[in-house]
Order: sequence, then C-alpha cells, then structure tokens
Amino acid sequence: MHTNLNRSKLLITTALILFLSFFTSTEPRAAASTKLTVYTSRKEHLIEEIFKQYTQNTGVKIKYKTGTPGALVQSIIAEGSKSPADIYMTVDAGNLWFAASEDVLEKTSSHVLKNNIPENVRDKNDRWFGLSIRARTIVYNTEKVKPQDLSTYEDLASPKWKGRLCLRTGKKVYNQSLVAMLIYELGKAKAREIVRGWVANTAKIHSNDTSVLKAVVAGECDLGIVNTYYFGRLQKKNENIPLALFWPNQGNSYGAHINISGAGIVKTSKNKAAAKKFLEWLSSEDAQSSYAQINMEYPVLRSATNAPQVDAWGKFKPNNSFPLYKAGELQKEAMLLMQEVKYR
Ligand code: FE
Repeated sequence: MHTNLNRSKLLITTALILFLSFFTSTEPRAAASTKLTVYTSRKEHLIEEIFKQYTQNTGVKIKYKTGTPGALVQSIIAEGSKSPADIYMTVDAGNLWFAASEDVLEKTSSHVLKNNIPENVRDKNDRWFGLSIRARTIVYNTEKVKPQDLSTYEDLASPKWKGRLCLRTGKKVYNQSLVAMLIYELGKAKAREIVRGWVANTAKIHSNDTSVLKAVVAGECDLGIVNTYYFGRLQKKNENIPLALFWPNQGNSYGAHINISGAGIVKTSKNKAAAKKFLEWLSSEDAQSSYAQINMEYPVLRSATNAPQVDAWGKFKPNNSFPLYKAGELQKEAMLLMQEVKYR
C-alpha cells in the first residue's frame, strides 16, 4: 500500500516534469517545426545553393521535388489537401499563369514583394511573382553577321535572312510567350506575318536553345533567338566562341523580350506564413544578387547586381510595356497562330 502510493507520487511528479519541460524548453521549437516544400521545375544546381543560404540564415529547412511544370501542377491537384507542396516554382510566365489558371496558387498580399518586384513581372492578382529575369534575344555568328545588319524581331522575317535562321521548336512555352508578346505589341495580323517570315527563313528547327547556339557556331545557320543564360553557359565553357548577343527593338521600339523564373504559394499549403517569408527573402537584395549570379539571369530587384559576365553583354532596353501575365492570357492565341504558319 505504502509503496504503491510512493510509486503513484513518482509517476505524477515525472509526468509533471515532462509536461513543464515541454513548455519551457529552450529549443527553438518554431524553427524545428518549420520546413518548407518547394515543387520546382528548376534544375537542382540552380536552386540548391540559394535554398541552403536561407536555411543557414533562418533554420527553416527547404525540401524540394523537381519535375516538369505541367506534371508538378498535376501532382498538386491530385494530392489535394494532402499535398506537401508549399511553393510552386518554375520558369516562364506562361507556366506560372497556367498554374494560377488551374487554381493551385494562393493570392499573396505582401508589401515587400510589391516593392521589390516590378509590376510587369508579377501576376496582376498576386498569385505568382517573378524572381529572376531572362531576355529572349537574337544571337549571331560574329564571323557571318554584322551587328549593323540586325535591328528587330520583325526584321528576322526579311528575305535577306532566307535559310540563315535557326529557331527552337514552337512547342516550347518560351516561344509561345515571345509570339504572345508580338501579338500584344503588333496585333495578330502583323504578328502572323512576322512569324510566317521567320518560318520561311528557318534553316532548321531545334529542340532546345543550346542546340540552336551550337548550330549557329557550326555554320548550319547564321543567327537564332535564344534565352541569354544559355548563351552565358556556352560562353563560360569557351570565351572565344564566335557568338554575340544582339538586343533588338531598342530606341523608340518596345525593347527586347524578357521573361521570368518565378514562384507562388500553393493554395493547400499549411505553412503559408513561412512560405511568404521565404518568397520575400528571395526578393531581397542578398538573395537577388546571388540567385541571378548562379543562374546567369537578371535580378528582378533593381538594386541587386548582375554577374560580371552578364554585365559584359551590355545594357539594353527590356520590353517592360508587356505585362507578363499577358503571355498566359495570349498563350492559346499564340499557339494557334504558330500552327497556322506551320511553326512546329
Ligand atoms: Fe531555360
């Protein structure tokens, strides 16, 4: 009887100690429980470093799952309320717009994001935000083309480039967004005429931008249209490569076509506050400078710095008059137009 009473006392005391220690723990429990999951179509080596930096600064762990933009959106939909995804991160406003139109992205109100990210590179309904900028511009073989012979995207439809142009496939969202921009700037009829001219001038359609660049070096064609960072990667491997970038539609024209990589918070996320903090950090000066440098892209934050190699490509006027959500809104129209002129 006596020992039983003692044992009960001991049990109660132990329980009380455990209970109290749980609430007075000096462990940073918030940090320990904060873990974010990013679904991303970006390559591991482009994001790992920046995710690590955030974990070092905040203790928040970042897990990620990679896949194609469409497949990741389908996963989020299929997983429903059980989805572990907190953030969807991908490239091209067309892909971000698609995710928003499938209703998987949450509207995020943030003064920080609005201050740091220019209006034309984020969603008009605050569901996705540009985190880096790339230009889709003209690349030419410096032994075959003089820069003074180049001027605009429109001019690439001129018969003087017959058989001299290499293009990436029209199935890629990058080109659909570019054509959407032409529709927005020039109207559908004029845009159709231009793209028809491009197709007539094309020596060969390629499956990716790097293959276009290599074809221009090999002499299969003299010029092409590519995203700047692909040129940067090739230039890094061989600084004497006979290629140069040309910025089209400068001066009084609308400027070189830009697009983004970006992200939004997933509607079913259980960590929306932490996800918002992470996005805000990604738009900060520190993160912007390192992210743009790792990817050889341009920061969205105007005060952040470019990689020296990117700076060497020179200043240019980007097309900031084209709001990038329009790349999504006009995507279907752009695809139909490309089909009409047999841009495959
Ligand atoms: Fe790319």
